Amino acid sequence: MSYDNNNIFAKILRGEIPCKKIYEDDYVLSFHDINPQKKIHALVIPKGKYIDLDDFSEKASADEMVGLLKGINFVAKKLGISVDTGKGYRALANISEHGGQEVPHLHFHLFGGERVGKMVE
Ligand code: AMP
Repeated sequence: MSYDNNNIFAKILRGEIPCKKIYEDDYVLSFHDINPQKKIHALVIPKGKYIDLDDFSEKASADEMVGLLKGINFVAKKLGISVDTGKGYRALANISEHGGQEVPHLHFHLFGGERVGKMVE
């Protein structure tokens, strides 16, 4: 499967669709999920064209990998849900069909601001 340049997060990255931005740097963009499942529900996406975590792990540079992890940490702190600033949160990446991934651009969900609950249904 090749990367779909018309997926919704690619359009957000190109500025064609608005988002409620939380943070941006050379490696990541973070914004609020349009359909929040918890009090805080943020998304963190790499700027590179990666379909899912497997694709990213195979193809991304070391700088991109560090940038994504640092971005997640920075966003969690900014939102006050990190261990430093709050009570913790869940970071989750759905991968392909059985993972329930809907948007084919790698993204981490950050859920917090309240107890997140069971890990899987
Ligand atoms: P996933 O099922 O892991 O692919 O999650 C995709 C997520 O993207 C869902 O939680 C959607 O609510 C969210 N989403 C879809 N379109 C947008 C958008 N335009 N802005 C923000 N979040 C979105």
